[in-house]
Amino acid sequence: MTAPADPGATPDRMVLATANPDKAAEIAAILAEVAGDTHTLELVARPYGVPEVEETGETLEENALLKARALAQATGLPAVADDTGLEVDALDGAPGVHTARFAGEGASYAENVVKLLAELESAGADGPEARAARFKTVAAAVGTDGSVLVAEGVVEGWIAPAGRGTEGFGYDPVFVPSGGDGRTFAEMTPAEKHATSHRGRAFRALAAGLFGAP
Ligand code: IMP
Repeated sequence: MTAPADPGATPDRMVLATANPDKAAEIAAILAEVAGDTHTLELVARPYGVPEVEETGETLEENALLKARALAQATGLPAVADDTGLEVDALDGAPGVHTARFAGEGASYAENVVKLLAELESAGADGPEARAARFKTVAAAVGTDGSVLVAEGVVEGWIAPAGRGTEGFGYDPVFVPSGGDGRTFAEMTPAEKHATSHRGRAFRALAAGLFGAP
């Protein structure tokens, strides 16, 4: 992790790259948890008129930095962005950087999950070991002086044969984190998910770099 070049730029007001309300709510909760009482953190949503940045990078880190840099430049505020990928061993690491559009450009969460389950079935992957997978998040903060802070969070797990639960979003109904009680992320409360999730880990590490350890 690289420390921000100018500690005076420690951001108490930051703009968030995502327009996805599910992700925004998770990130706000995690950052507020770490910022605690020592920082009054105001997270600003991406202003209307600042277009979403195309994720043209070949890695999660490139995409997270693309988004954070573009937003910091457009708004003049420190910016935070993240990029997440699901890697499934039986599919040679797919969908990876293409996780959001696994079933095609503009695919819904449900369509992506259907495709994932179908591909694992075609591959004959049966049981937790054969269906091993991990979520990876790269979180990036870019200061007004161009300084950069990057952190990664990973959670290991496996893909359940069918969806369970109604919490969360995306692939949560089919992702069972390792070391848990067998519930999918979608069967957990948001706080339970944040405690172990890829995004929780990445943003806690990022926040510790920004605000100091809690
Ligand atoms: P993004 O790069 O963070 O927007 O994530 C890409 C895609 O990964 C999303 O469109 C979701 O389908 C999926 N995804 C990201 N984070 C999660 C999560 O916490 N649970 C389930 N799916 C997720």
